[in-house]
Amino acid sequence: MRSPIEGYLRELHADLSRLRGGVPYQGIPAMAGVNPDEFAIALATVDGHVYQVGDTQSEFSIQSISKPFSYGLALDDLGAGPVDEKIDVEPSGDAFNEISLARDTGRPANAMINAGAIAAVSLIPEAPGATRFERILERFSLCAGRQLAVSEEIYHSEAQTGHRNRALAYLLRSFGIIETDPTRALEDYFRACSVMVTTPDLAMMAATLANAGSHPVTGVQAMGLDAVQRVLSVMTTCGMYDDAGAWMSTVGLPAKSGVGGGLIAVLPGQLGLAVYSPPLDAHGSSVRGVAACERMSRDMGLHFVRAA
Ligand code: GLN
Repeated sequence: MRSPIEGYLRELHADLSRLRGGVPYQGIPAMAGVNPDEFAIALATVDGHVYQVGDTQSEFSIQSISKPFSYGLALDDLGAGPVDEKIDVEPSGDAFNEISLARDTGRPANAMINAGAIAAVSLIPEAPGATRFERILERFSLCAGRQLAVSEEIYHSEAQTGHRNRALAYLLRSFGIIETDPTRALEDYFRACSVMVTTPDLAMMAATLANAGSHPVTGVQAMGLDAVQRVLSVMTTCGMYDDAGAWMSTVGLPAKSGVGGGLIAVLPGQLGLAVYSPPLDAHGSSVRGVAACERMSRDMGLHFVRAA
């Protein structure tokens, strides 16, 4: 028997396929030529069911959806205290690439904007036998439930053109927020953004957060509980950048968007949602992704006020 959720997702997908508007990200040359019509929706429950529709095999770069997972790793490694010393937990109300650093200390406003995310990556230590980036990739893979990989093409493209992020990294180094080599931190941040995922991968990563850090299928504890609580809190207030207020009003779920066209939302204790559609709005979030989450939140009563 087909689940009513599958029928619902198929209708939603067909309906929103008609939605035009937005432009795929032009800031990273290797991403600029993506097919703007690709569109997928996936929903993963904490008991491990995945419902999916559309271009669910398509792989795209995770981009800023890497940020909550890198931040979670830094929190697990160091504990909240030392991380908080370097990265605040306040919404900046600014765009993702804004130079949002405290005037006197240089502390980034939060770990969801680029400055805070680069700082978070810089805090993650190497382990015996594993580089920092290998640890990041392992963490992302545990959250997805399969081995993920980097697009070298997208990585190199951003590394050659990401001058603003490079400037941010050096600024963070000048304030002592980054205490190590800013170039290495930046490379690892770019690599983290270039990890390739499918929409069901993202739904599983979101469901792992919904499931208190334990992967719904493998049962592996991929992120500690304290880190999950903190990550979801910061996603709630800062995950959608300068659109966070409107997002919480209409969708009411912790979320994170990426300029690759991916978007995740989390209903703690219940499910993870993911949408992929490359054309972006003015905030750098997927136009169809935002529309799909608004519709699902309304139709399924997912807004945290109603879901309570
Ligand atoms: N790699 C991108 C950047 O740092 C990520 C931005 C995003 O997805 N919002 O500019």
